[in-house]
Amino acid sequence: MNTLLIGSGGREHALAWKIAQSDRLGKFFAVPGNPGIADHAECVQLDVSDHAQIVAFCKDESIDLVVVGPEAPLVAGLADDLRAAGIPCFGASKDAAQLEGSKAFTKEICDLKNIPTAGWARFNNAPKAKAYLRSKGAPIVIKADGLAAGKGVTVAETVDQACAAVDDCFEGLFGSAGAEVVVEDFLSGEEASFFCLCDGRTAVALAGAQDHKRVGDGDVGPNTGGMGAYSPAPVLTDKHIETVMTRIIQPTLDGMAERGTPFTGVLYAGLMIDEEGPKLIEYNVRFGDPECQVLMVRLKSDLLPVLHAAALGRLAECEELEWTEQPALTVVMAAEGYPGTPKKGGAIAGLNEAAGEGVTIFHAGTALKSGQLVASGGRVLNVTANGATLEQARERAYGAIERIDWPDGFYRSDIAWRALKREG
Ligand code: ATP
Repeated sequence: MNTLLIGSGGREHALAWKIAQSDRLGKFFAVPGNPGIADHAECVQLDVSDHAQIVAFCKDESIDLVVVGPEAPLVAGLADDLRAAGIPCFGASKDAAQLEGSKAFTKEICDLKNIPTAGWARFNNAPKAKAYLRSKGAPIVIKADGLAAGKGVTVAETVDQACAAVDDCFEGLFGSAGAEVVVEDFLSGEEASFFCLCDGRTAVALAGAQDHKRVGDGDVGPNTGGMGAYSPAPVLTDKHIETVMTRIIQPTLDGMAERGTPFTGVLYAGLMIDEEGPKLIEYNVRFGDPECQVLMVRLKSDLLPVLHAAALGRLAECEELEWTEQPALTVVMAAEGYPGTPKKGGAIAGLNEAAGEGVTIFHAGTALKSGQLVASGGRVLNVTANGATLEQARERAYGAIERIDWPDGFYRSDIAWRALKREG
């Protein structure tokens, strides 16, 4: 099966690593890829926003399946344009990507299908939003409706903070993303993520994971794209997973199909788990990065035919996926300065020596400069390991990091603390 992968991060390296293990794989390309992906696929420098160029490439190379990693090309309608040209694509249509792109859209689906989630209201002006939140009291959550790179959400401890967050949105701090504001009841509990593959009607469960958004040990400092993750997420029991599939994921797919925007691709549910069970916080329409890395090292089944079946609407014909029982964990190595301005260009060495038993190192922001691997972004390497126990996976990952020679790199030293505390 000739395959094209879109993306250049650690998530896409993990997907490329997994896809490359498939007996069914024919030619394998990545646009634009990265030096790690280049070990598995031919990296081609096309403009991802030029859909006609991507379609023409797919025709020239007789591509059977396009797998889209990040959300931006989905929101821009790449999957629609590929499908319109008769090219199977694993990824959400522009309309279906609203599940990530508009919080009010997702909430409407939740209301329609009685999906467990926080109570909410939407506003297009500040006075009404403030009157509502005053009537509710704090804590309360204020969200810019659209995509704001994780910055458009305020969990307000006081009504004053909530009012200030409402003003930020309507004063244009988040651009058009803040033209509408969603006010949500505060949910308490423990957060986890759950991932599914969807074909428009049917969902196949992948697995749960937990990530670490803050830059510093002990969950302090600014938010990041994610400094590490592990899977499975012990807080998500089998019973919770059943609830997520029957009360959250399947009703969402049904609701999307009924409104004429069936969802194909990865549905990533951000959940809050409390004593009543899981509640939906948000959806993303792609794999989490770095959660994808830990899912890929735990998945035993061949991923490629399942992605193809999802793209063709045939997931119901697929066998259940097999997973190793072994937990996996990934530690993100980031460049000094991240999540502000990262220090780029520093030489990276020792990756071959570092990759010992159970360890896989995925590239994110790396580049080759005159044959030397250098840092080229904020999050640079994802040191991923599995083991008989989470503790063993952790020792393997941090042992590997010790062997990597990259003076500009830093990482959190407490990845998986929540799960380890639970075990201990
Ligand atoms: P991300 O950066 O993860 O994509 P986002 O901007 O799409 O985030 P949400 O996931 O909706 O926004 O919210 C971000 C974070 O705010 C959540 O991970 C959670 O910690 C917190 N949060 C959101 N909604 C609630 C809620 N109703 N109650 C409590 N905390 C919440």
